[in-house]
Amino acid sequence: MARTPVAEHEGRVRALLAPLRTREPEEVPVAAALGRVLAEAVVSPIDLPPFRNAQMDGVAVVAADLPGTLPLVGEVAAAAGAPAPLVAGTVVRIMTGAPVPEGADAVVPIEEVVTTDDGRVSIARAVSPGTFVRDVGSDLRAGAELLPGGLRLGPRHLAALSAAGITSVPVLSRARVAVISTGSELVAPGEALGPGQIADSNGTALVAACRDVAAEIVLEGRVVDDAEAFEALLVAAVAADAELILTSGGISMGAHEVVRDTLEPLGATVDVLAMQPGGPQAFAAFRGIPVVCFPGNPVSSQLSFLLFVEPLLREIAGLPDRIRVSRVLDQPITSVAGKRQFLRGHALPDGRVEQVGGASSHLVAALAAADVLLDVPEDATELPAGATVETWEL
Ligand code: AMP
Ligand code: MG
Repeated sequence: MARTPVAEHEGRVRALLAPLRTREPEEVPVAAALGRVLAEAVVSPIDLPPFRNAQMDGVAVVAADLPGTLPLVGEVAAAAGAPAPLVAGTVVRIMTGAPVPEGADAVVPIEEVVTTDDGRVSIARAVSPGTFVRDVGSDLRAGAELLPGGLRLGPRHLAALSAAGITSVPVLSRARVAVISTGSELVAPGEALGPGQIADSNGTALVAACRDVAAEIVLEGRVVDDAEAFEALLVAAVAADAELILTSGGISMGAHEVVRDTLEPLGATVDVLAMQPGGPQAFAAFRGIPVVCFPGNPVSSQLSFLLFVEPLLREIAGLPDRIRVSRVLDQPITSVAGKRQFLRGHALPDGRVEQVGGASSHLVAALAAADVLLDVPEDATELPAGATVETWEL
């Protein structure tokens, strides 16, 4: 049977998920906006800084009076309200951030000010107007763009919003995802394992992988290989307002392939890709909601998410694509002909990369020990030490 190229499946899933890219904005408090993506540009309603203020602790002066020895006639502290205008030929003590009095046009740092015996202050050097004065709007003018649309909000962006007095912002809604693990052998992690049972690690992995790219989990379920029970979870996912349902397991050639058996009559595409791990793949729409179905083996399902779903979720979240770097093989590797193979690797500090564990798709601990994936092309069967291979950062 001809296997479908990975790129073709990527394209099909991207098309299936295209509706998720059109997102409604929602207004959220700035305090809750960390990591969210601005739906539109935000304009500052005020000048930043909002008033002319001192950049140093020192004295406010008329620049033309310097150098000279001048009477100290008062003090302006931060938050002192509007100070009295400065009379030429006098100076006032001023603190950082305090409003510079009208008439004053420079601030001389306190370190350069000598107090004379008669209570006057002596400043030895000339200063140009504007020295150590932060002008109104010198950071940003009222009405100018503070933050662009599409920006993923980090702490510094929230700080700028707060400085401008903005308390809520329009952000893109987060992708709402349901994750369903299938398999009669699965138990909750930590539960005692009966004969033939294993802990559900795909659910943990896929939920975490979604959250890692800022998606919201609206349902997390685990179900035995029973069509009715599986369908009930799909219905629950739709009721939970999922925009995307991810499943693991139940799509290969076994006798109890619950995902395949349930979704194929509804028009699912079930296919085998020219890749390893992760050959079996499927996708469908259930009551209009896209369902992307991964194979059950842990490495396969994690890799499938990374290849087929994560790029879109990253785009929605305003996150950059996963980093890919070419590295040099530390040792020879072998790969299967006709399949794009993703081996687990460890990146060495000198830029080389070594394989971690074997090629099998059940090696969940070896995957945890890896920090890169080696993306070995379909036609490669043997790569010598020193060959260059594309790697994906985990
Ligand atoms: P399947 O794709 O359902 O044929 O499952 C393939 C292999 O993956 C089997 O060894 C399953 O026990 C295992 N598997 C399936 N689902 C999970 C899961 N959620 N967590 C860990 N292993 C799983
Ligand atoms: Mg199964």
